[in-house]
Amino acid sequence: MNLKKNKMIFDIAIIGAGPVGIAFACSFAKTNMKIAIIEKQSKTILANPKIDGREIALTHRSADILKELNVWQNIPARLITTIKEARVLNGNSKYFLDFTHQELQKECLGYLIPNNLIRKYLYKRLTNLTNVTLVDEASCISIDTNNNEYSSIQLSNGEKIKTSLVVASDSRFSESRTLMGISAFIHDFNKNMIVCRMKHEKPHNNIAYEFFRYTQTQASLPYINKQSSIVTTVSKETSKSLMKMNNKKFNKEMQNNFSNFFGKMRLIGKRYSYPMITVYSKKFVARRFALIGDAAVGMHPVTAHGFNLGLKGLEIITKEIKSAIDRKIDFGLPLVLQRYQSKLHRAAIPIYLSTNGIVSLYTNTSIPAMLARQLVLRAVNKIKPIKQTFLQVLR
Ligand SMILES: Cc1cc2nc3c(=O)[nH]c(=O)nc-3n(C[C@H](O)[C@H](O)[C@H](O)COP(=O)(O)OP(=O)(O)OC[C@H]3O[C@@H](n4cnc5c(N)ncnc54)[C@H](O)[C@@H]3O)c2cc1C
Repeated sequence: MNLKKNKMIFDIAIIGAGPVGIAFACSFAKTNMKIAIIEKQSKTILANPKIDGREIALTHRSADILKELNVWQNIPARLITTIKEARVLNGNSKYFLDFTHQELQKECLGYLIPNNLIRKYLYKRLTNLTNVTLVDEASCISIDTNNNEYSSIQLSNGEKIKTSLVVASDSRFSESRTLMGISAFIHDFNKNMIVCRMKHEKPHNNIAYEFFRYTQTQASLPYINKQSSIVTTVSKETSKSLMKMNNKKFNKEMQNNFSNFFGKMRLIGKRYSYPMITVYSKKFVARRFALIGDAAVGMHPVTAHGFNLGLKGLEIITKEIKSAIDRKIDFGLPLVLQRYQSKLHRAAIPIYLSTNGIVSLYTNTSIPAMLARQLVLRAVNKIKPIKQTFLQVLR
């Protein structure tokens, strides 16, 4: 069957033009693959994504992927910060677990870039690709994978797409995953994360901090001009009052929460609140269908792995698809998709479980847990193979 005669027939149809969906589409630049990407937001919003409070810490491998996609080179260097060191502190103790760039044998541990800039420059790259069709202001109503040769998608704008493979990157609350009847392990931590940018008196020296206090977690990620991304994880009730608080009171509250560590602090822009819900899909693939990004694994942001893992996943699936094409194998076949599923699962499950474990331990205020918290920090700091395992993820 010659699928390509009809204009709504594509090799791959991606649902969701978030950072992972767009990066995945960009990985088929310079190929003759016909790609569709369906997004509910408008092109105007995608071209100038609003600040959403997320400042994304990126690993070296993620930076390399964005370079390979010709995206990194266009992000103004002055808006990228290097993270040289990361320190983790427990309760009121001054002892800290630290990860340094020297241990990683690189000039920095990683980079910090606001999410809206990552989205903006990914979208810019996408608009230069002639083999990608963006269908905006549309969502997917149904997905039919019953045909052996192709999948069909019915869109909310009345259009129908036929494709060899549907790839869903439509967030951790993926509607496509639900339409396909794929369930997920969902963990609701019953907390909210408030993120905002703050200017502070004392320098951060390009160090990221994670303070696991007893009733809340307070983190800072170093940004440009004596600014940091401030991340506060609290109960839903406390988050409501923190969101409503006037700026003056909020500044004071943060200053106190950091025990005056940064001196005077001043809010820049708005505060944003995110519910802490992690999601691990029970499978990543089905017949002519695959999940990528947060739709496959929605991480807890505390260890800053979500987008990094999304990029790793797209690197795996792209390699499998390209290798199938080279071998003249239909890339929508289960044998190709299963290889992606098992490789991503092997990479994701240790990070997912250890992150959830860290969050559960460091938000537990029972006496045994509080003792264990301190012991774990010391063990990771002192036992070289454990520390190397953590550092390995940052390469
Ligand atoms: C506070 C916070 C801080 C974070 N910090 C870090 C960090 O430091 N490092 C890191 O690696 N990660 C971090 N993350 C995680 C990171 O933001 C996500 O992993 C990343 O955004 C996932 O990208 P995505 O494209 O898979 O999904 P999303 O960013 O959720 O994008 C999904 C896209 O799909 C669209 N969509 C949704 N439903 C439909 C539909 N039915 N039809 C069509 N389109 C649809 C949406 O409009 C959106 O454009 C953080 C997350 C949070 C919340």
